[in-house]
Amino acid sequence: MNLQPKASHFINGEYVEDTAGRVIDVVYPATGEVIAKLHAATPALIEKALNAAAAAQKEWAALRPVERARILRRAHDLVRARNDEIARVESTDTGRALSETLYVDAVSVAEALEFYAGVIPAYNGETISLGNAFAYTRREPLGVCIGIGAWNYPFQGAGWKSAPALAAGNAMVFKPSENSPLSALILAEIYKEAGLPDGLFNVVQGHGDVGQALVEHPLSAKVSLTGSVPTGKKVLGLAGSLMKHGTMELGGKSPLIIFEDAPLENAVRGALMANFYSTGQVCTNGTRVFVHRSIHDQLVEKVVERAREIRIGDPLDPEVTMGPLISKAQQEKVLNYIALGKEEGAKLEMGGGIPAMQGMEGGFWIEPTVFTNVTDNMRIAREEIFGPVMSVLAFDDEEEVIARANDTEFGLAAGVFTNNLPRAHRVIAKLQAGMCWINNYNLAPVEVPFGGVKSSGVGRECAMAALDHYTQIKSVYVESDDVVSVF
Ligand code: NAD
Repeated sequence: MNLQPKASHFINGEYVEDTAGRVIDVVYPATGEVIAKLHAATPALIEKALNAAAAAQKEWAALRPVERARILRRAHDLVRARNDEIARVESTDTGRALSETLYVDAVSVAEALEFYAGVIPAYNGETISLGNAFAYTRREPLGVCIGIGAWNYPFQGAGWKSAPALAAGNAMVFKPSENSPLSALILAEIYKEAGLPDGLFNVVQGHGDVGQALVEHPLSAKVSLTGSVPTGKKVLGLAGSLMKHGTMELGGKSPLIIFEDAPLENAVRGALMANFYSTGQVCTNGTRVFVHRSIHDQLVEKVVERAREIRIGDPLDPEVTMGPLISKAQQEKVLNYIALGKEEGAKLEMGGGIPAMQGMEGGFWIEPTVFTNVTDNMRIAREEIFGPVMSVLAFDDEEEVIARANDTEFGLAAGVFTNNLPRAHRVIAKLQAGMCWINNYNLAPVEVPFGGVKSSGVGRECAMAALDHYTQIKSVYVESDDVVSVF
């Protein structure tokens, strides 16, 4: 299989290569086969990308929003037209099953482009009446924004960051994860074809050091990072020390609470989607499944029965519902957590091993895994595993489960399944999480602000909220009377 792009980077409207940069092997996680070889950006290329972005940004910001919107709308059409190609690249690069990527990744970027093209012409400041005077505010772009992506949803990451940034009049330099660098290049091609002026969306490849160089460069004004909490702390710390803006979309260990009055079939579906979708590599996953003791055994039985039907296999086979993990390192990490869970005394209900995959033995496979008898202080219940490992915890009453759900440094997401309407809203109001669901899990439409609290992040992606994070307010006081002077 060969997915070698024309070159590693896309800068100032064209593919660019510099073979002096560190080699990045792009691997098909189902087999371990190298499908492309890229080079990390050298300091010269980082400079080139930032300069191109800065040069293009001012003219772009001066356009009428409807003119910027027109280009985003064309990009929307092109993303939809290339949906299947993007899905194949995404599945090959990340190992996530085609049964997901065909319906989620390009679609969510298309919707982001559609949304921001639609709303940006009506996104304005306010007028403030001050008696004889008045003031108005302008929502001005920040300038050159840095986007840094995680490896699980690379195309979505590039789209969710660039669509609002560009709509608001910024330029972007995007660095994909070194584990899934390919699809952001397709987005760059699409923007170019849609008529986006050169330099406004650039893709540079590299590891953390390239991300750091972009953030600390004097030409960048903001960083939007999707990644782990330790990386987020470093990057926001650096941005803060330079007084730059930062949006951090980080990890989680989210609670999914199933009350005794829950719609059981939907709760089972929710728990499965919250743990096994994308082979468990979803930041918002509800990996601590709190189940009321009275329905615990019944729910576990159904979850296990359904999880056994998951079709593990070649991500490019449309019948397959679960692919491998992203990398050998991630597979080892997940296996270590499974071993730890057993040592800590959790009961392994199913999975826990590497499935036998004929012809794909070099892939980073892992079985869907369910632990019961999990207690709050076990490491499998406290740390983000980022793999298909569900921990089930029994609870007895509402106040108790709220306190236990909140007893974590994370605060990305939370879910509640119950048919008791007052209880649903009462519990959600008390949960410390940025993204919550009642009677569903893991849906993230672009119309809804997305992001975490506590260590899970700062700022929001999606919805109108993202525009606030890609702009700054200028306040203008306008006098219509004489100046009062004490002098
Ligand atoms: P990671 O933190 O290892 O890397 C994320 C990105 O940051 C990569 O592009 C990496 O190259 C870059 N990076 C690393 N060190 C850097 C530095 N010092 N300066 C600048 N950039 C640096 O995360 P990952 O393993 O790619 O992704 C998995 C993590 O991402 C999980 O914790 C997951 O929960 C989280 N995640 C969060 C969201 C969200 O929206 N909240 C979405 C997806 C993934």
